[in-house]
Amino acid sequence: MIEPQAQASGIHVILPAFSDPHFVMADRTRVKQASVNLLSNAIKYNHAGGTVEMTFTELSPKRIRISFRDTGEGLSAENLAQLFQPFNRLGQEAGSQDGTGIGLVVSKRLVELMGGEIGAQSTVGVGSVFWIELNSTAALRLAAATEPTLVPPPLPTDAQLHTLLCVEDNPANLMLIEQLIARRADIHLLSARNGRRGVEMARATQPDLILMDINLPEISGLTALAILADDPLTAHIPVIALSANAMPRDIEKGLAAGFFRYLTKPIKITEFMAALDETLLFAKAKSAGGIKK
Ligand code: MN
Repeated sequence: MIEPQAQASGIHVILPAFSDPHFVMADRTRVKQASVNLLSNAIKYNHAGGTVEMTFTELSPKRIRISFRDTGEGLSAENLAQLFQPFNRLGQEAGSQDGTGIGLVVSKRLVELMGGEIGAQSTVGVGSVFWIELNSTAALRLAAATEPTLVPPPLPTDAQLHTLLCVEDNPANLMLIEQLIARRADIHLLSARNGRRGVEMARATQPDLILMDINLPEISGLTALAILADDPLTAHIPVIALSANAMPRDIEKGLAAGFFRYLTKPIKITEFMAALDETLLFAKAKSAGGIKK
C-alpha cells in the first residue's frame, strides 16, 4: 500500500523478515490503518533518498512492539510531546498529500482501544522512531468445544470429492476455513488471496463451489463475481459471499449481484456447513440438468 508513495519520494522501505509468524490480539483493519499511518508519515517527513525501517521486538512473551524508523529531520522534545494531541498538526501537514490515511490521534485511539500503546522517540537531525505495542497471542484456533470433530469422518466409498475455492485475503479467516474444511473428507480446499488470482484459479481448476470475500485487494468480490459470471468457463459455478459487510443493504446487494448465498462474518459454523451442503446439492442437481439458474 505504501510502495507508490515511497517510490515517488525516493524512500527506501525496509520491512521486517521473520521465520516464525507472530500473532497479535487486535483488529486486523485497525492495525493496518495505524501501521499505514506511521509508515506514511515516516515517508512523508523524510528526505529524498532516506530510509524507513520497520522492525519488531518481543518485549515479553505477551507483548510485541512494532517500530517505524525514519531518517527525517526529527522532532524537538516539545513537538514530540504535542504530537498525539488532537488538532495539533505542528504546521507540517499543510499542503502535503494526506490521502485517505488516518492521523496520529486516531491511530493512538485505535491502538489503545485494542489494549496497545503508541509512542515516539526522536533526535533532531537524525530521525524519529514511532512505535506501537500490542498484546501477543497464539495462532488462531477453533474453540475447544468444537475440536473433537476435527478428524474428518471416513468418506463413503461412493462419495464424490468436491473442490472448494476460497478467495480470502485475511489469513486468520482463511486459517479458520481451513480448519473447518479439514472436518470434511468430501471437500478439497484451494485458496486465493485476491480477486484476480481467484478468477484465474477458478478458470484453471474448475471448482465445484467458490467462497468469496467481498473486500479484497485489487478487485472486489463483487467485481470478481461479475467476471466469473461473464465467462462460459466459470458461469456455472455457484459463488457464496462471505463478508464482514453485514448490513441488510449489503446482503440484498450481494444476492442481487448473483451470489448463491450471502454469509456474514464472523463465521457461524453450523450456518457455514449448511450453506456448503446446500450449494453442493444445488450444483449437483444443476449439472445433472435438473435446475436452471
Ligand atoms: Mn477481505
